[in-house]
Amino acid sequence: MIEFQHVSKSYGTGSHILEDISFRVTAGEFVFIAGPSGAGKSTLLKLIAGLEPCSKGSIHVNGQRLDQITARARPYLRRAVGVILQDTHLLYDRSALDNVMLPLAVAGHPTGIARSRARAALQKVGLSGKEEANPISLSGGEQQRLAIARAIVNRPALLIADEPTANLDRETARKVMSVFRDFNQVGVTTLVATHDEDLMAQYAQRVFVVEPGRFRDFPVSKT
Ligand code: ADP
Ligand code: ADP
Repeated sequence: MIEFQHVSKSYGTGSHILEDISFRVTAGEFVFIAGPSGAGKSTLLKLIAGLEPCSKGSIHVNGQRLDQITARARPYLRRAVGVILQDTHLLYDRSALDNVMLPLAVAGHPTGIARSRARAALQKVGLSGKEEANPISLSGGEQQRLAIARAIVNRPALLIADEPTANLDRETARKVMSVFRDFNQVGVTTLVATHDEDLMAQYAQRVFVVEPGRFRDFPVSKT
């Protein structure tokens, strides 16, 4: 699903944030990305999502080499990868339902089908009844779940989330994580960057630890 070969990343002329990283994530895995603030967790996720180019090496996602992808293949890849960034980028000039319908409209689905799939996605994240709400009126946890609904409505094979439980209370964080676990259990490859060690202990199968100048890959043994 994801293969990094000797990947390095620097921004502009700066020094490498990530240096000579190689790993492979197979379909259906659940991987946490841990490490101190500023170490490069978001950068790693952005490389996988194709939102930043790498400086050296090669990255394959869903069978495509990201730096050689054709204009024709790009929209398919975009739909195969659901991305939830720290800033949820919700649109506050329209309803929750319209926010979730947007990726389907962009993909060219008829409005009726888009509406019913968007409702189903809202139901999966526990937001039934909030279809007509403006995102601004939703709590932080609800907005986070709305962003997840928008990321999963295209049924991506790969889900990437950057600190999805930051600023949430424990109970809401657990709810958000259980949404990811449910998707993972039906085969969606899932990568989550987090500082939350309790959540990691509870859910992780594998942890990438990103530290300045160092990358480690830990399988987690479940006892
Ligand atoms: P983390 O997610 O682990 O907190 P980031 O990947 O956000 O780390 O950042 C890693 C380093 O890269 C930081 O020093 C950050 O300031 C720098 N950085 C991130 N994005 C950019 C950018 N667009 N331009 C320049 N530097 C950046
Ligand atoms: P995110 O989308 O995950 O919120 P950003 O790319 O906005 O991440 O920022 C991640 C980190 O990188 C932050 O610490 C931010 O201050 C830093 N950063 C972002 N852009 C730049 C930049 N152009 N130069 C230096 N640091 C940056």
